[in-house]
Amino acid sequence: MKTYDAIVVGAGHNGLVAACYLARAKRKVLVLERRYIVGGACVTEERTFPGYKVSTAAYVNSLFRPEIIRDLRLRDYGFELLERSPASFSPFLDGRYLLLGSNKQSELSEIAKFSRKDAQRYPEYEDMLERVAAVIEPTLGQKPPNVVRPSVSDLMGMAKLGRGMQKLGPQMGEAVEILTGAARPILDRWFESEELKATLATDAIIGAFAAPSMPGTAYVLFHHVMGETNGKKGVWSYVRGGMGGITQALARAASDLGAEIRTEREVARILVRDGAACGVALANGDEFHAKTVASSVDCRLTFERFLDPAELPPEFLAEIRRIDYSSASAKINVALEHLPDFTALPGTQVGPQHRGTVHLCPDQDFIERAYDDAKYGEPSREPVVECTIPSAVDDTVAPPGKHLMSMFVQYAPYAPKSAPWSSATKDAFADTCFDVVERYAPGFKNSVIDRQVLTPPDIENIFALTGGNIFQGAMTLDHLFMFRPAPGYAGYRMPVEGLFLCGSAAHPGGGVMGAAGLNAAREMLKR
Ligand SMILES: Cc1cc2nc3c(=O)[nH]c(=O)nc-3n(C[C@H](O)[C@H](O)[C@H](O)COP(=O)(O)OP(=O)(O)OC[C@H]3O[C@@H](n4cnc5c(N)ncnc54)[C@H](O)[C@@H]3O)c2cc1C
Repeated sequence: MKTYDAIVVGAGHNGLVAACYLARAKRKVLVLERRYIVGGACVTEERTFPGYKVSTAAYVNSLFRPEIIRDLRLRDYGFELLERSPASFSPFLDGRYLLLGSNKQSELSEIAKFSRKDAQRYPEYEDMLERVAAVIEPTLGQKPPNVVRPSVSDLMGMAKLGRGMQKLGPQMGEAVEILTGAARPILDRWFESEELKATLATDAIIGAFAAPSMPGTAYVLFHHVMGETNGKKGVWSYVRGGMGGITQALARAASDLGAEIRTEREVARILVRDGAACGVALANGDEFHAKTVASSVDCRLTFERFLDPAELPPEFLAEIRRIDYSSASAKINVALEHLPDFTALPGTQVGPQHRGTVHLCPDQDFIERAYDDAKYGEPSREPVVECTIPSAVDDTVAPPGKHLMSMFVQYAPYAPKSAPWSSATKDAFADTCFDVVERYAPGFKNSVIDRQVLTPPDIENIFALTGGNIFQGAMTLDHLFMFRPAPGYAGYRMPVEGLFLCGSAAHPGGGVMGAAGLNAAREMLKR
């Protein structure tokens, strides 16, 4: 039995960030990870297809906090961002296409191909989002206030946030709509071109079991515009060598700072004595002791599996049990012989159509119909497919001449009503997704060398994400900021003395941000 100052459960990027900051402050830290590899949902795996570096789950970055990159000198550990430019390519079956995000001028002329009015409105729309982001983004790096038992500093924090909102003037209403409302009415009000709106609306449904017409989706869209790449706001990037480039760099930094990381160590229990956390017990019976235990694992597992509910206040448990883990997101990783040849912009040599995210979605109604199937318990007959091809930008992730594609697909419910997921139903669903790509890029199916199909139960099994929910719980306002994971407990300290939450189940939620790990470490260091 060994004793540490702090034990971190889970070596996802947040657990590793927390470990780095604790170790940097000279705490003796142990990180325990159940998988063979660190990284959680931010990982590169080389076992999937020989010769390929597959970002099994997360595939693009912009949210990862720049201060963490600087503080931990992650570039010295091999971390490198490769800008995604253009941001997106949306081909349409009538032969037209829309490229967004190369540079301002060409973006506007691209939009003008579909609507001159929208091209005029687009900069204003971006300014509006930036104004709201200026109020919300600073909160990502802060401990949210305790709204149930506020201290003076909590009250001051809430007043500051209120002041920020007040500065928006009459646009406060639109900001509140973004935080609580549906993406579709906002997009419909701003724009007339369905091609543009469909491209933007796909960001509003990523990871959400919802259609763009449903409340909460505007925030998901907004969540995706808050990041940056190398100082450029709103720009997304690939990570050289796959998303594991972030977590491998973090793990190396953590080790250099003195943290101990052990993989293939599954935590079964958080040990509690006299109402205080005192360590963890592994599934194999080993015990490790520490007065601080930080879980980067979701609330279902942390509070209902690792702890005895009798150790928790009933009103806290009731809130935790309200967290929505439903998910209808699937991920398909594909090894390709060659790049897709899009009818709307032909070519199998790397071009702008391959470098950004490829949106295969004609209009918002298409997304609504895809959702309707899932709402009634079935995988979408016409799924919304979004593809990225990291090998178009990074020659380290696929063998020479070959390519790697990441398909993020909505909607594939966790437990389809007509037939549970099996290798046959998974294959059938993947074939449906491939049919979608084939329609826009004939010959695609023949170029497939291998594929890995991950439905929500697969995501749950591999990454221990309850329900396959990619954000460790829905990102709706009732579970964001001062309500994440529960009102009164958003400050990373949980109702058991010495127990902290340091993963995306805590503020500011899902996505590869590292903010939860950093904010939680700051609170742990106050002990
Ligand atoms: C398919 C998919 C695609 C995504 N795409 C993107 C994207 O492109 N960009 C983006 O920013 N975000 C994306 N996300 C979201 C993002 O990846 C996650 O929000 C983020 O990686 C979560 O990090 P975390 O450290 O909070 O938790 P996790 O990554 O979930 O880490 C928790 C760790 O705890 C470990 N663990 C669980 N139980 C135990 C136990 N009993 N004992 C020990 N260890 C345990 C897990 O194995 C895991 O390593 C995606 C997620 C998924 C699933």
